[in-house]
Amino acid sequence: MEPTENSSVIAITNQKGGVGKTTSTLNIAQALAALGHRVLVIDLDPQGNATQGLGIKLETVRASAADLLRDKNLSDEAGIYQGAGLDLIPATPLLAAVEREMVGLTNSEFRLAQRVKRLRATYKYVLIDNAPGFGPLMNSALNASDFVLVPVDSSFFGLAGLQKLLGELEIIREGFNPGLSLLGLFLTMFDTTRMSEEILGELVSSFGDLVFESRIRRSVKLREAPAFGRTIFQHAPGGSGAEDYLRLTQELIVRLAKARAVSHV
Ligand code: ADP
Ligand code: MG
Repeated sequence: MEPTENSSVIAITNQKGGVGKTTSTLNIAQALAALGHRVLVIDLDPQGNATQGLGIKLETVRASAADLLRDKNLSDEAGIYQGAGLDLIPATPLLAAVEREMVGLTNSEFRLAQRVKRLRATYKYVLIDNAPGFGPLMNSALNASDFVLVPVDSSFFGLAGLQKLLGELEIIREGFNPGLSLLGLFLTMFDTTRMSEEILGELVSSFGDLVFESRIRRSVKLREAPAFGRTIFQHAPGGSGAEDYLRLTQELIVRLAKARAVSHV
């Protein structure tokens, strides 16, 4: 999408599961909301982890991302749950069925982009949480976004996977969304092991400045928070998780401002 107005649409992606996509989406979103911005989280994972992480039980969800993708006559508002500064388009397992329907259906991967384009008028930040792997939902997210943000697990070497992700971004750029850019990569579950340091070294030598200086340390509180339906800022506001996500979010804001300045030259 054109990086218009003042809104930023950010897809949080990594085709590997369990790297911290959902944790990062929710906590960055909460940090942005706490700074006074209107924020929308779109849960685009049929597992609905982001939805549950915000305290919503999947069986209580009426309209969700699945309905918004399937029925273009449904209003955007019908699928939005209003929170305190942080709104959500939830996901339920129905989204998996919708993804299967989308395969081979002309233009189905642009439906989310059309909705998001309208929602830019309301939200300063739209964060899209993605399922692992590639497919119509992931393409939908990339078609709708200005930026891609990639969490990387500090305990697992996965640089080959990251190269494949970059290849996918290039395909989206050559197609519908030439303005899509990689905002950066950051390490999650960082600890004092040698593995973490080695992965940091590898990441910096492959991606240079694209690697965020802020890292998210491994933290029990971060792991617990979703079970309470809370972000880290409600669950353990004084701990390392809150500190790390706040710092990461501040770095993200600076990077967004720089990226926008460059794109307007
Ligand atoms: P993804 O969305 O990429 O699959 P999640 O955000 O769900 O990954 O994280 C995978 C698991 O790791 C979850 O149980 C989550 O609570 C936990 N987790 C995420 N980040 C951290 C961290 N910094 N420290 C400890 N546990 C974490
Ligand atoms: Mg997830």
